[in-house]
Amino acid sequence: MEKLCFSDLHVHTNLSLCAPKDTTVASFLPLCEQDGTRILGISNHLYAPNRLGCTYPENLAYALKIKEEVAALTPQTSVKILIGCEVETFYGQPPGLSREDAAAFDYLLLAASHIFNFPGEYQHLDLTTPEKVKKLLIEQFIRACLLEYDKPVGICHPLYPICCPFEQEVMDSFTDSEYETCFSLAAERNISIEIHACLTRGGTRLDESGLSPSYLHLLEVAKDCGCKFHFGSDAHAPGGFLEIHEKLELAAKRLGITQEDLWEVATAL
Ligand SMILES: [Zn+2]
Ligand SMILES: [Zn+2]
Repeated sequence: MEKLCFSDLHVHTNLSLCAPKDTTVASFLPLCEQDGTRILGISNHLYAPNRLGCTYPENLAYALKIKEEVAALTPQTSVKILIGCEVETFYGQPPGLSREDAAAFDYLLLAASHIFNFPGEYQHLDLTTPEKVKKLLIEQFIRACLLEYDKPVGICHPLYPICCPFEQEVMDSFTDSEYETCFSLAAERNISIEIHACLTRGGTRLDESGLSPSYLHLLEVAKDCGCKFHFGSDAHAPGGFLEIHEKLELAAKRLGITQEDLWEVATAL
C-alpha cells in the first residue's frame, strides 16, 4: 500500500520560543531521508500582536528569519522544504498574521485551540466544565475558518483542547452534529484538517495500537464532510519524529484516507 505520510507540515524550530535552542531545519533532514518524508513544512508560531512582549512586526520578522536557513539548505537536500507558520487566533483579538503579510509564506496553519496554553488570555471566561470549553473551541474553530487569506490554510490540532486538565471529557462532550457544523464549513472553504500528533500523545485515552479513538472519530467525521487532510507531527525537536509519523500513517490508513483526500500542499512535489 502506498505511503501517505510523506509530508509533515507542522514542524517547529528554535524560532519558536517553546522549541529547544539547537532545533534547526537541518536537524530534521536526516530523519526525513530515513523515513521517506519528502515535504517538510516549517510552521513556527506567530503569536497575537503584543503577546510575549513582542510587537506584530517583531514577531513577523523573527519568524521570517527561517527563509535564510531554508535557502541555504535547499541546494543540499532532495526534501522539499516549505515555509509555513502556526498563526495564533486568540478569542477577541486579531490573528497573529495579517492577510497582506501571509504572502510571505507558502501556507498557513491556524491555531484556534491553544486555550489552556495561554490561560491569561482566557481568564475572563468561565472554562471550568467540558461543555464550556467545547463551546469556545467550536466558536474559535468557526472564527478561524472565516478568516480571509489568499494562501492555502489548514487548521492545526482541530478542536483539540491542548493542555486542558480534562481533555478526554471535552472530546467526549462533542456531538457528531457539532463536528459536522465545523468540518462542513472547513470543507466548503478548502481548509485542510490536520492529522495531528495529539492522536497519540496520551492526553486522551489510547487504544492498543496507541491511537486515540475519540480523535480518530473526529477525523472520521471530517472525512465524511469532505475535508482534505495534512499530517502534522508538531515536532519541536528531532526526538520522536519517526515514531509519530508511524502513528499518523497508521491513523490515516485506519480512517481509509487515500492520496485523493490529502491537501494539495501536502502532496505537491
Ligand atoms: Zn499548536
Ligand atoms: Zn505547533
